Amino acid sequence: MPFSEILGQDRAVGALRAALRRGALHHAYLFAGPGGVGKAAAARLLAQAANCDGGVPGEACGACVPCRKIARGVHPDVLWVEGERAMARAGRWEPKGGRAPSRDIVVDQVRELVDRRLSLRRFEGRWRFVVLDPADAMNVQAQNALLKTLEEPPPDTTLVLVSSSADALLPTIRSRCLRVGFAPLPAALVEERLVAAGRPAGEARLAASLAGGSLGHALALDAQALSERRAAVERAARLPPDDAAAWIAFARERAADREAARETCELLLVWLRDVLVRAVAGDGAALALADLAPVTAEAAARIGPGGALRRGDAVRGALAALRHNAGPALALERMLIGWFRG
Ligand SMILES: [Zn+2]
Repeated sequence: MPFSEILGQDRAVGALRAALRRGALHHAYLFAGPGGVGKAAAARLLAQAANCDGGVPGEACGACVPCRKIARGVHPDVLWVEGERAMARAGRWEPKGGRAPSRDIVVDQVRELVDRRLSLRRFEGRWRFVVLDPADAMNVQAQNALLKTLEEPPPDTTLVLVSSSADALLPTIRSRCLRVGFAPLPAALVEERLVAAGRPAGEARLAASLAGGSLGHALALDAQALSERRAAVERAARLPPDDAAAWIAFARERAADREAARETCELLLVWLRDVLVRAVAGDGAALALADLAPVTAEAAARIGPGGALRRGDAVRGALAALRHNAGPALALERMLIGWFRG
């Protein structure tokens, strides 16, 4: 798989290829961005391209021995460190003293896998890689243990920290890595990939709208998950747009926990985007929830583009509050106050 297969990340990929062509790889990268947008694939490609025998600088042929070994995860100079549980399941790690494996990357892994490996010479590769995926699975002790390696990096070695919540890493870790930002994918691109993977068009559009720019999340939404979400948004869409009491009752029901509240907000955003599109573009508008077109048209006529925008802003405000640990009931209530007071 060449770099061109990583879609929608031209900036990140361009920076990595330029460094490869100059032979100037940084000793530590932080691949930061939402989950499911190609960060781990880019880390694998980087390791392949740096060790490829195919003869094209800055590219991985995918066919030579090093490329194939790295793809299969068996190259001795490319170490992939994951949470204990994931590695234990793959038979690549066993916690000491019969302890049950945790979700974390623990200090023992940093010492025994990373430090010990890096104290040895390279085996067969030109450039050694250690990929921590996800890096934010490292607990504080593990991060502190990794600091030493980041401060005194061994030669011909690159560490790649893959993270969808890079801000959770210690500032001392972040400041010692070169950050490469991965962007959320455009919904149209996610939709296209889902259709190419054989998903029906309507399902692909809804999944893409709900996935927040992550192909990984979109792929994880199966037909049943989507139909449950569709039912929830349909119920909301059928509420009279200006009946505050009905909306408050709906919100109370959906505020059972933070996850339910967050998902309700995501669903409302998808639908309100449809209302806005319908209000602006009229009859021929391409809607994420095509089968709700009649109710969506009604809502568009009632609240107009301004109303759809204002409500969308209130929903985004609620999402931000939920991310900052607001209580779900309070966040949704405030959101509705924003809707009906405007
Ligand atoms: Zn190759």
